[in-house]
Amino acid sequence: MRAAIKTDKSGEIILQEKELPKLNSDEVLIQVDYCGVCGSDLHAYKHSKGYEFVSKPIILGHEFSGVVVDCLDASYEHLKGKSVIVEPMNYCGKCENCVNGRKSICTQNKVMGLHFDGGMAQFVKTEARYVREIPNGIPLQLAALSEPMSVAVHAVRQSGEISKSDTILVQGPGIIGFFVSVILAQKGAKVYLSGLEKDYESRLSKCQKFGVIPHIVESGNLGEKVDIVFECSGSNAAVKSGFSSLKKGGKAIFVALYEKETALFLTELVRNEVFINTSYGSNPEDFNEAFVVLKLLSEQLMDIMTIYPLTDVSQAFEDGLNQVVLKPVISFC
Ligand SMILES: [Zn+2]
Ligand SMILES: [Zn+2]
Repeated sequence: MRAAIKTDKSGEIILQEKELPKLNSDEVLIQVDYCGVCGSDLHAYKHSKGYEFVSKPIILGHEFSGVVVDCLDASYEHLKGKSVIVEPMNYCGKCENCVNGRKSICTQNKVMGLHFDGGMAQFVKTEARYVREIPNGIPLQLAALSEPMSVAVHAVRQSGEISKSDTILVQGPGIIGFFVSVILAQKGAKVYLSGLEKDYESRLSKCQKFGVIPHIVESGNLGEKVDIVFECSGSNAAVKSGFSSLKKGGKAIFVALYEKETALFLTELVRNEVFINTSYGSNPEDFNEAFVVLKLLSEQLMDIMTIYPLTDVSQAFEDGLNQVVLKPVISFC
């Protein structure tokens, strides 16, 4: 099979012929149709701080869709021929967090395409228990966005109830911030999505057709305080400006990962009784809601993706890094 291999050299990804993955009895083989390039793939590609755990060489990719083509155990035979995605966060199902329904922070968790080979290849194997059938009405291409959508669903859940009277600022027009803003607008809140001027054309402007108001950071303050801030930018400066955008008693939800520490003066946050929460990855039930959103908005969401053939995989990574596209997706069709 043809596979995109992340070598042990920073910024290098090469195409190679590889043996088909050998199945264990609890696994299935998937023929990949589409695989999205995630922010974490870009970090792994550039050997960013915090990504030292990524084994190399490796086949990256955890946002893929495809069709189950093989299994060893007869009990998974029914999956053959089914269009599927995979929950990439491989949880143990037994630890305290898993038992309490918090699989995204399983104490043993391993992420497909970062800890072990993922979906940027013609074929990929996975344990059958992480396989999810794609509901009717979601094209395979769009289904590749199920995982980032589930991460956005999880982030919104972490903020508690959303009310139609809420005014919300989402910082960072990467795919997670973009999806968070789309979900919140869908719930009827007034939503701003903020980003830099250079992101306007390729990313920020696209949020308007989902009822989200784009805000260019360089243009100054919003002009009003907000009830909730979702920090999805990963910028240290945005952490501080996010808090200053909040009403007294507001909520701040941190979804991005940061390369540097941020110094905060907590007294101000305590006096304003700011509620702070974080969100990491997603749980299996978050995929159910992700499917609902993808199906509902399938037409509008189709054109946020830029499709690259496998032969252009390096270009897809470079365009993702340079933020000239909103969502690069590799096609194997
Ligand atoms: Zn991802
Ligand atoms: Zn666990």
